[in-house]
Amino acid sequence: MVEAVQVSKSFGSNQVLKSISLTVARGEVLCLVGPSGSGKSTFLRCINHLETVDAGRLRVDGTLIGYREKGDRLHELKPRDAARQRRDIGMVFQRFNLFPHMTALENIIEAPIRVNRANKAAAIVRARELLARVGLADKADAYPAHLSGGQQQRVAIARALAMDPKLMLFDEPTSALDPELVGEVLDVMKQLAQSGMTMIVVTHEMGFAREVADSLAFMDGGVVVESGDPRTVLADPQHERTRAFLSKVL
Ligand code: ADP
Ligand code: MG
Repeated sequence: MVEAVQVSKSFGSNQVLKSISLTVARGEVLCLVGPSGSGKSTFLRCINHLETVDAGRLRVDGTLIGYREKGDRLHELKPRDAARQRRDIGMVFQRFNLFPHMTALENIIEAPIRVNRANKAAAIVRARELLARVGLADKADAYPAHLSGGQQQRVAIARALAMDPKLMLFDEPTSALDPELVGEVLDVMKQLAQSGMTMIVVTHEMGFAREVADSLAFMDGGVVVESGDPRTVLADPQHERTRAFLSKVL
């Protein structure tokens, strides 16, 4: 589903991704961990067409979304093709970015109706199913301000799922939550993983990584320092940088 081969990305003179190679097979969950500034969000943003890669190859669902051979020009998808592919990728951010003036249900039906031209009645039925799936069947008419952070994040997940994504990207989805609300969001993500969704999850929740992820990649300074089976990497990290990081978050 996702194949990165020697992907690099700089902002000015700051090289943020240095030859990142990672693959995520269909139905697999990759947890991406690492200190702040290591390039995790930038990598997700490249996958989601919010940034372009400077070098290397990045393929999503078989489509080459950007690459540059040595000395060659950058090859990119046409904007229309990029926009089409973005619709197949759901993204959930640290800050629940729900539309504040819309109810939970309205948040969920907005993109299917506006972008996919879905039938409104059908979109509402589907939104109610998704709200039930994230445990919020009774919150359809609630505005974000009246929901807890955990509830808002579950609505954000339902909203992303309403577009029937092939791939879900999570960028520290529980980092802004009060500790007692983290579990309800991770439970929804775990259930989603078990349903076969392909997911890349940037998180510091090592329990989730150990239990749910098929692979874990530790990034530091724009490189993948080590990756592999999460249980193995967490139990027996091979690199000092990984050990130092894990000793802080475990
Ligand atoms: P992480 O998510 O691992 O904390 P980021 O990908 O957000 O790391 O950031 C990696 C580096 O890239 C940081 O040094 C950050 O300041 C820089 N960076 C990220 N986005 C931009 C941008 N749009 N312009 C300039 N620098 C950026
Ligand atoms: Mg980040």
